[in-house]
This record gives sequence, C-alpha cells and structure tokens, in this order.
Amino acid sequence: MPVVSLAKVAVSPAAARDFTVRVPCIYGKRLASNRVSFGNSRRPSCVGHCVRSELQSPRVLGSAVTDLQLDNSVENGHLPKGDSWAVHKFGGTCVGNSERIKDVADVVVKDESERKLVVVSAMAKVTDMMYDLIHRAQSRDDSYLSALDAVLEKHRATALELLDGDELASFLARLHDDINNLKAMLRAIYIAGHATESFSDFVVGHGELWSAQMLAAVVRKSGLDCTWMDARDVLVVIPTSSNQVDPDFEESEKRLEKWFSLNSAKIIIATGFIASTPQNIPTTLKRDGSDFSAAIMGALFRSHQLTIWTDVDGVYSADPRKVSEAVILKTLSYQEAWEMSYFGANVLHPRTIIPVMKYNIPIVIRNIFNLSAPGTMICRQIEDEDGYKLDAPVKGFATIDNLALVNVEGTGMAGVPGTASAIFSAVKEVGANVIMISQASSEHSVCFAVPEKEVKAVSEALNSRFRQALTGGRLSQIEIIPNCSILAAVGQKMASTPGVSATFFNALAKAAVLKEEFKIDLRVIGITGSSKMLLSESGIDLSRWRELMKEEGESANMEKFTQCVKGNHFIPNAVMVDCTADADIASCYYDWLLRGIHVVTPNKKANSGPLDQYLKIRDLQRKSYTHYFYEATVGAGLPIISTLRGLLETGDKILRIEGIFSGTLSYLFNNFVGTRSFSEVVAEAKQAGFTEPDPRDDLSGTDVARKVTILARESGLKLDLDGLPVQNLVPKPLQACASAEEFMQKLPQFDEELSKQRQEAEASGEVLRYVGVVDAVEKKGTVELKRYKKDHPFAQLSGADNIIAFTTTRYKEQPLIVRGPGAGAQVTAGGIFSDILRLAFYLGAPS
Ligand code: ADP
Ligand code: ASP
Ligand code: MG
Repeated sequence: MPVVSLAKVAVSPAAARDFTVRVPCIYGKRLASNRVSFGNSRRPSCVGHCVRSELQSPRVLGSAVTDLQLDNSVENGHLPKGDSWAVHKFGGTCVGNSERIKDVADVVVKDESERKLVVVSAMAKVTDMMYDLIHRAQSRDDSYLSALDAVLEKHRATALELLDGDELASFLARLHDDINNLKAMLRAIYIAGHATESFSDFVVGHGELWSAQMLAAVVRKSGLDCTWMDARDVLVVIPTSSNQVDPDFEESEKRLEKWFSLNSAKIIIATGFIASTPQNIPTTLKRDGSDFSAAIMGALFRSHQLTIWTDVDGVYSADPRKVSEAVILKTLSYQEAWEMSYFGANVLHPRTIIPVMKYNIPIVIRNIFNLSAPGTMICRQIEDEDGYKLDAPVKGFATIDNLALVNVEGTGMAGVPGTASAIFSAVKEVGANVIMISQASSEHSVCFAVPEKEVKAVSEALNSRFRQALTGGRLSQIEIIPNCSILAAVGQKMASTPGVSATFFNALAKAAVLKEEFKIDLRVIGITGSSKMLLSESGIDLSRWRELMKEEGESANMEKFTQCVKGNHFIPNAVMVDCTADADIASCYYDWLLRGIHVVTPNKKANSGPLDQYLKIRDLQRKSYTHYFYEATVGAGLPIISTLRGLLETGDKILRIEGIFSGTLSYLFNNFVGTRSFSEVVAEAKQAGFTEPDPRDDLSGTDVARKVTILARESGLKLDLDGLPVQNLVPKPLQACASAEEFMQKLPQFDEELSKQRQEAEASGEVLRYVGVVDAVEKKGTVELKRYKKDHPFAQLSGADNIIAFTTTRYKEQPLIVRGPGAGAQVTAGGIFSDILRLAFYLGAPS
C-alpha cells in the first residue's frame, strides 16, 4: 500500500500535539474470491447487502482449486465443515459478570444455526490481572499471592451465581487445581525473579480456560448438547521473530479432526487467545487475540458467518470515544476493515480479516448490550448489478497515537544503494516497530514513524550507525519529531475517486487556518443550568445549543458535569465558566482548581464571601498553577481588576479606589435632579428594567459592598463583607415589606429626607453620588452616599455608567479613571470572553 503523503500539520498550541497525516490508499485491484460456492442458500441475509451475485459465479483461481480439494477431503472425514456452522466470539466485556454470561448463553441458545462454535475471551480485566500476577512475582513482590486469591474469588463467586450441583462441583475442583498449579508456577517465577515467555503465556491464558468452561456449563443448563474446547489442543501457531504468531492451518485442521472425533457436539465453547506451538508448548495469540482465534476457527470450520460480539453497536466511522459524531457503518469491505483496525480501531484485531477473507466468510460486529442494533457487516466489496462499486469513497478514520517521526536527511543519500537498508537494519537491531515509511522522491530523506517509547533507542542506534556520515556531512541530520499521531482515512473507493486527498488536506488546512488566525481552539463541552445539562465530548454546536439541550439534555448533576470536563482526555486544558450568582456553585471553585480545572467567572460570591475561603482559593490557585480569573465581577467588561493588577504588578502602590460601581444607582442619582422625587426616579428605572425586580436589592448597597470587598482584597487588604459599613438606601420601615409592590407603593412617604440632602448639596454646588470606597491607607472600606463638586468626574456621569478612580503613588494628583457601561449581558459576556482568551495566552497561545 503506497503512502500517498506524509505531512506535519500544526494543531492548536493548547493541544500541543502534532498530527501526522497519512492517507492510505487501497488500489482498485480487487482480491478475487477463492471460495468455491456451495450451500450459499443457508447464508443468512446480510446487514446492507453482501455480494451474492459474485458468490453464485465464483472466479475459480489456482488457490480456489486447492480449497475445493481441501473441502472434499473434509467431507470424507468426521467433522462436518461448512455452512452448517456459525462461529461467534464474545469479548471480555460480554462475559464481565454472571448476568452477562447468562445473556451470552441466551444468545448462543437462540442462534438457530445447526452447529455453533463459540470463542470466548476471559472475563473483563482478568487477562490484565493475570499479567499483573507475573509482574508482581518476577519483581519479587509476594503480594502476587493475594492478587491470585482475588482471581480465584472472582471466578468462584461467578460460578456460584451461575452453576449448581455436579457442574458447580466439577468447575470448582478444576478451578482450585488450576490455582494451585499457578501458585507453584508463580512461586518459581518469584524465586527466579524472571518469567520466560512460555511461563508467562501459560499463566495469562487461564482467564479464557475458566470463562469457556463456565459458559459451556450455563449453555448445558438449557438441555443442549454443548462441550468446551481448550484451544491449545487444536490451534497450532508458529512464533515469529516479531513477537507475533502465524497459524499453522494444516496442523490445526488435523488436530481439529482428531479433537472432534472425540468430542463431537452441536455447540462448542472454545477458548480465545490461547494456542500451542508445534512442540505443544502453550502460547497465546498476543493481546486482544481472541478475535484472531475466532477468525482462525471460522476458517477451520468454513463457517457461514463469524459474529463478533462486543460493547458497541458495530464499527464506527471513527473511534466513538474520540469523535462523538462518529456513525455506525453498515458495511465494510475486508480491506477497509483491515485498514481501520490496523490504524487503531481496536474494535477488531487486524489479523482477524485474512483467515475469514480466504473463505469469503462475512464478519458481523454486534453489540451484546443492544440486540436490536443490526451491527456492521464486513464482507467482500459491494458492487451493484453492473459491477460498479457502491459506497462512499471515505468510510472512516482511525488514529494511532503516541508516535514519533524519525527523519533521516542528507544529500549523501541520493543514489547510494543500501542507505535504506542500513537505516532499517539499525532500527531492527533495537527491536523497534516501524509503523510506516516514506521516502522523498529526491531520495534526500527517509521518514518513518515508530512508537514514542522506542524512539530514544532508535535515535541512539542511528546516530551511532551513521556517526561517520554525519561528521562527514553526507547526512545533514537525524531529526526526531515527538508527539505525533497517524490519522488514516480509510475507504476502498478512494483510489478510484479523484479529489479525495484534496478534500482531506483542504479540511485539515482549514482547521489549520482557523488556528493560525486565532491561535486558539475553544470548545464548549458542557452547559448546565439548575435542572438540565448538556454534555458533548467534542464540543457543542453553539448555534443550536438550546435545541440540543431540549433534545439531548440530561438531569443536571454537578459532580458528573465536573467529571466530564476533567475526564475528557482529548482536550488538554479545561476551564469552568460560572455565570451564576450562586454561592453554592462558588463553593465548588476550590475543588475544580484542585482537579486542575481553571475557573473564569463574573460571580462575586467567592471573592466577597468568607475571607478564609477566599484566601484558601487564592493560595491553592497559586500553588497548583491553575488560573482563576474574575474580571467581570466588578464593572462587567470594564478593565478594572486588570488595571488594578497592572498597577500593583508594576510596583505602584494603591492609596484609594473610589467609584460608582452600580449601574442602577448611577442611573438613579444621575437622574435625581430638578423637581423630581427619588421615588419617581426609582419607579421610572424599574419600569425601564434598570433595577432588579425588587429595587431594594440595588438600594441596599450589598452588591456595591461586594465589589468594594473584591477590590480591597485584590489590593491586599484583609477585609470581610460583614465588617464593611454600608449605607442602606432602603428606609428602615420599608426593609421588612413583604413585596416589591408594597415597597414601591410606600417609598414616596420617605422622599423628603433624600430631597433635603440633595437641596443642601445643590446649595453648595455639589451633587449626591452613591459610591464605594477602598481606603488602602486606613485599611478600610465604605459604601455610602457622598457629595461631589459639580466639576468632579463623578458628577459628569450619564445613564447607567460606572466610573472608578484609582489614586496611587504614581497617579496621586490626577487619579487614573476607568469609565463606561458596567452592567448588561453583552458587556459582561465580553469581560468573560476576554478572561478566557487571557487564560489561553497564559497556557501558551501566542499573544
Ligand atoms: P472486546 O473486549 O469485546 O474485544 P474491545 O475493547 O477490544 O472489545 O473493542 C471494542 C472497543 O473498540 C469499543 O468499546 C470502542 O471503544 C473501541 N473502538 C475504537 N475504534 C472504534 C471504531 N472505529 N468503531 C467501534 N469501536 C471502536
Ligand atoms: N483476553 C485477552 C486479552 O485481554 C484476549 C482477548 O480478549 O481478545 O488480551
Ligand atoms: Mg477486542
């Protein structure tokens, strides 16, 4: 398969990860069928449509003749091979506990095929537990004994829930026997401090031995003829130098015949994963090898279908854990499925395809947890009646992560025979696995990808091998590019469709341009209100979020929301934006920061709440290198906190901060002029929507007091909201009014006092303004109604503007003044957004 292109594409700096793009092409040459068709009528109808017409008119090639001979010989033997057999494979999650094992037995029983061969994995996590036993024993850690007890207990408990009578007794007897043998073997490993590969393979394969026996016993409970097969008695594989194994089909066929003559049954439950070498030494098909076991069994039995049962609805167009938009593929060709699995779609082991493809046996991937889903059919390429290939050119995408690129470059490479061979023999010597290779047509460079964990050894080996060429200048460099991924686009029709790579690279370039211009890749991955929340791993479409919340929203749950934000492994930096005014939510900040989630908020509750809690948050935030930004808590989008920080950071000293911090109170006093009464202005403001629904919330001064507390603390004062003197503009008798209406109705009775104060002020050429003051010299704060000369900047204010004056050692004569609209959804959103961008810059986005 040719490598079409190898390019490095910049991804968001925040993601700090490089993607290497590879478009594998499968050339149009179709692999001819070598199955001679007989008994097709029993082939079940496929999901989508399989290539029936081809099956009815097979191309008989050289290899097909061999098959025919093989099949004939089979018909003379004991084993009835062919379409009467259905092969099923159940993955570890399918047999994760006793309930699931019952469900699996149910599926097996209900399959109406005449004969059934079922390949089963170890119960979920058991193979990991077995590898862990080896690891502990060879590290001379005697906790392997308790870990072995846990393995015993897991299977004992499952068997007790599933079986009874003789079945239970005989399973438990065998289980205890096995555990005793394992104990002896692990003891030997413990003493030697080392496990040979065959010791290790013997140990780790036990999970499959136990799950197969339990499942067979459960199926027998339905009164059916069922036996279990230790696949080590049948499957013979030859170990290769690259830590893989190749099946020996001929020898395995012979052993299967023999096995079947002694154990014939209509239902056979066989162990996945394990096999024997030609010398009868137990071995395995390596991690995730049960799919491969099932494929070999399918080929040995010439079954009519291989169904692989797992925990997803089929093969998705991309890894569903990474791409929430991925869709189930109804059908895939063998080649497409192989490519998908080779490039990281672990729903199928890459070696599963070849054995079944040889006999044209379709594979169906199905979900044991969702029997109504039809699954994905993998079969020969789909064509319509005229032989045209159907389907989309690109079926799916898959990735392999944690790779490094090695680029060997130099003018001395061109036209010199043996350079590539020297490079790759050096790589082979350190046992590194080369995942793909590209050579520039000029022959000036060879570039290849290896797993990140192997790149150090590769680099050392190459530098040593080519020391002389590097010194002599024949090679200019051996460059290592870490942190890469391969992104593969898979589709059989791609090769015959012009423009696919153009579209592919265009899409990548577009993404790159976006990032090039804005440098930041922002995604909203969750939105929560008090009753409902919406989550999306890859990002919510903000143009439709309300609609999506209605359709897909789930009950709000802050812990789940937080876990989802933090647990998203594909997004490197997470920030919570709290747009509430809620003290309970503010009390979560500490936990969020502790979990490494940054916080941006206009909510004043945390910074003006209890002093010790505020100090705790700031302390944690500094120590944990997480960020906490709250510009919009004071003056919405106006740069107040950042101005204050700028002054402090550049060594200025704050003497006093004085300002009109409430848009509502600003409006009220700016309009409390002439003959108007205060209650009249309040009524007008309420009518225009400038006040809270109950204007007492504004007039009480609490909101201003919170802002003063925030600014005081920001300036280094240890002030608490409780200790701050606040002039409450709500007349005392009205503070207890039950409703806003009653308050508004009675307010005119108290107009006189404020009118008097205004007249007195006017008489001295002054105006009344409701202000907050931080007195950094006296270390105190106040919120009060004060008088200002008519030429003072505070007296010039209009509308609902805020104004804040900073008097500092640097700005002593003329204070530094920030003025502008300090409330409203849009300017607040602007303030929040600027905090988010600032966060991105702090996290490494170029400014
Ligand atoms: P089993 O134990 O049944 O063999 P695996 O964990 O080996 O199951 O494979 C199933 C998993 O493969 C799914 O849960 C899914 O997360 C993952 N996967 C990765 N890529 C794909 C893909 N393209 N389509 C479906 N599943 C995928
Ligand atoms: N149990 C083995 C493993 O976990 C084989 C398999 O499940 O495919 O690797
Ligand atoms: Mg698997």
